[in-house]
Formats: sequence, structure tokens, C-alpha cells
Amino acid sequence: MKFVSYWHDTAPAFAGASVAPPEGRVDVAVIGGGFCGLSAALALAKRGARVAVIEAGQVINAGSGRNGGHCNNGFSPSFSVVVERYGLQRATALYRAFDAAVDGVERLVAEEGIACHFRRSGKLKLAVKPSHYEAMQQSFEQLHRHADPEAVMIPPAELGAEVHSGSFHGGMVMPKSAQMHMGEFGLGLAEAAARRGVRVFENTRMTKLRRLGGTRYRVETDKGVLEAGQVLLASGASMQSPLFFRRRIIPIGTFIVATEPLSDEQVAGFLPGRRNVVTTANVGNYFRITPDNRLLFGGRTRFALPGEGSDAKSGRMLEARLREFFPQLKDIRIDYCWGGIVDVNRDRLPRAGERDGLFYALGYSGHGVQMSVEMGGRMAAIMSGETVANPFEDLPWPPVPGHFGPPWFLPLVGLYYRFKDGMK
Ligand SMILES: Cc1cc2nc3c(=O)[nH]c(=O)nc-3n(C[C@H](O)[C@H](O)[C@H](O)COP(=O)(O)OP(=O)(O)OC[C@H]3O[C@@H](n4cnc5c(N)ncnc54)[C@H](O)[C@@H]3O)c2cc1C
Repeated sequence: MKFVSYWHDTAPAFAGASVAPPEGRVDVAVIGGGFCGLSAALALAKRGARVAVIEAGQVINAGSGRNGGHCNNGFSPSFSVVVERYGLQRATALYRAFDAAVDGVERLVAEEGIACHFRRSGKLKLAVKPSHYEAMQQSFEQLHRHADPEAVMIPPAELGAEVHSGSFHGGMVMPKSAQMHMGEFGLGLAEAAARRGVRVFENTRMTKLRRLGGTRYRVETDKGVLEAGQVLLASGASMQSPLFFRRRIIPIGTFIVATEPLSDEQVAGFLPGRRNVVTTANVGNYFRITPDNRLLFGGRTRFALPGEGSDAKSGRMLEARLREFFPQLKDIRIDYCWGGIVDVNRDRLPRAGERDGLFYALGYSGHGVQMSVEMGGRMAAIMSGETVANPFEDLPWPPVPGHFGPPWFLPLVGLYYRFKDGMK
């Protein structure tokens, strides 16, 4: 078994990084070479800006190159939860922003000619308990009427067209959702940005941001110093971002395994719908089929951060769950296992805007493939002085009490959710 991301292992590495260290002046410094930072850098360069991307590792080495491969419409909480918190009008607008983000990814793929197996697969949300199906049905009425008229409920008796498993009690399909090869997409974005003159500094860590006045910042890195007219913080779940953001964003580990390539008959025997799948459990799972017919199967498992040993432990738990859902796969081999960190907000919605002259877009809460690309583009327009809607700008954003960086409380949260999942 390989302990590397399947997306990293099956896409060529980016070869366009700058060899010289970062120094001098740029119009914009982007901190983070994930989807958000690269999309912003590309959009800024298209507007004629001199842009530098500062990336601590290699491009898409974090969430953007380690995710479950879903480019879904819809946000992380259920629609009814967001309606309750922010009202129907706001919830509908936020939901539509996620629709627009999937459209935006599709457009970018076409415009830049990125070969990444983009496909509108649809998303299937599966109820793991009969009571979850009932709750889903109630939320569906509102969702269907106000935000997603294409969504359809799949009663338990009709689930066979989508999935063959005794573990589920009905579901809902959202057809607008898509999937793609995340490594190929990330490489395509980085190459498109480099083609437009963006300088990408890999293996270069931002160590300090010092405000010079207005939106001007001195960006100190472990390789050199840049002066930037504007800075965009697109550093995901980084525990090295300024304290204001660390107090609001909880880094949570999530893990994935990928099987050996399967035959079309094997796939038809457990997931004939070939959609992006998520389950309703609190400690839930997400899965899909890759372009080369592997089952890529993820979940939160242990509420631990990824790392040596931790990935393997989580991988074994995922493997057991995969075989529990699909006993027909009991003999298939697991080829890949890896983990990553998601940047979770308390209300599980992103935040983007400007604070102390510093622009930021973070907190995608595990639903960032589409929205990080979208917000990168929108922040680029806003930073260029254009009037563009920012759907997350004015949402309240209080700090998480007692949280200053490392998430000490996660094992307790994990225990609580596991207890809830165990109840009928
Ligand atoms: C295992 C896993 C599964 C997921 N599954 C899905 C999914 O199926 N669908 C979905 O929509 N979303 C999913 N997500 C979330 C999604 O991948 C992210 O929301 C999205 O990629 C965020 O992109 P980003 O550019 O904001 O951040 P990232 O991709 O995290 O990029 C941030 C970058 O900033 C760099 N950085 C941080 N600090 C510094 C510093 N001080 N100096 C320089 N560089 C720095 C990091 O190295 C990193 O490369 C998943 C995430 C994980 C981890």
C-alpha cells in the first residue's frame, strides 16, 4: 500500500516553479498554492497584475491535492440548518453561490483546456438510519422549492439503481454536482497561472506579515522577503496563519483509502450510479469511483490529525467500514491511504474579505473544491477594485472559545458524535 495521495501519485508534478528566491516588489502576494491561491493568482495575472504565490510545500500539497474528489453543489450543513441560522433568503443565496462555483470550475476547465476528467456525476446523499431519511425528506421540501429544483429523493425501494448495500435507508440526488481528477486540475491551474507570468515559489514558507500601510505588506519567508501592494491569505487549514484566523478555524483531520482498479462489472455490482456519495452519519463517509475505476473511500474516522502511523490506523478503520457497506468487495486490495486537514468554521461556511488591509478566503469546511476556486476568482476581482458579490463577507465570525491553534478538544467532539451515531 502507498501512503501518498492518489491524486498526487497519478498526475505529473508541476515543473514551472521559480528557482530564484522571492525578493523585490510585486502587486500581489498570494499565501498558499492550493486551488484558492492558484485560482486567485491566475485571475489577477489575467488582469495584468504582477503576482507571486508563496507555497510552503509543493502546489496542491494540502487539501487541494488530498481531497475526496467531489466538486459538489450544496454546502456542508443541511439546507434547513442554514435557513434556521441565517434565514431563507440568505440560505438560498449561499446555496446558489455553490451552484455557481461548480459552473465556474467547469468554465475554467474549458477556458484553460485542463484535461482533468471533469464530469457532472451528481451527488448522492445516503441515509444511514431510517430517522435520517425522514429528516432528509423534511429538509428536501424546502431545498427543492427554494434552492435546488433538480434535487430528487430516492426512496429505499428505488436505491438499487444507485447503490447495492444493505447499510442505507434511502437518499437524495443533487444532479448538478461534478467530479474531476484533482491532481490534473491542480496541475492545470498552476500551469495556467505560470503561463500568465505568475511566479510560484514552492517550498517557501511565509513566516511573518508586517503591514506597511493600507493594503501594503512586507512578506517575510524562510527564503527571502517580498514587498506586496496587496496580500491574499489562502492558506487553508494552516496553523501558521495570523492568530485572528487560527482562533476561528478548526483544523480537522480526514482520511481516505483507494482500492485497486476494479472492472466495470465490479463497479456495477456496488455503485451502478457512479455518483459522488456522502453519508448522513455525524462521523460520516464520502466516496466515488476514480477515472481508472478505483473506489476512493474517505471519512473522518478518529478526529486525529494526519501523519505517520495516524494515516495507517485511520486507513484500517476505513477499510473495515468499506467492507461493511460493500461485503461484495471483501477481497479487493487497498492500494492507497492518506490523510489531510480541513479548515472548519463553527457554522461550516467559508469566510472571505479584508481585515487590517489583509485579504483572505478560508474556512471551506470540507466543501472547498468548488468554492476555493470560486472565491479565489472573486477575491481577485475585489482586490482589482471591481464590484463583485462576496457571499460570505458579512457573516458573523466569532472565535471558537478556548481555541488558539492546535485543536485539543477534537477527541471529545469525536466521542460525542460517535455516541450520537450509535443512538437509534
Ligand atoms: C482529505 C480531504 C478530503 C476532502 N474532500 C473534499 C471533497 O471531496 N470535496 C470538497 O469540496 N472539498 C473537500 N475537501 C476540502 C477541499 O479540498 C479544500 O477546502 C480546498 O482544497 C481548499 O483549498 P485552499 O486552496 O483554500 O487550501 P489548501 O489546498 O489547503 O491550500 C493552502 C496552501 O497554503 C499553504 N500554506 C499554509 N500556510 C503557509 C505558509 N505559512 N506559508 C506558505 N504556504 C502556506 C499550504 O501548504 C497549502 O498548500 C477535502 C479536504 C481534505 C483534506
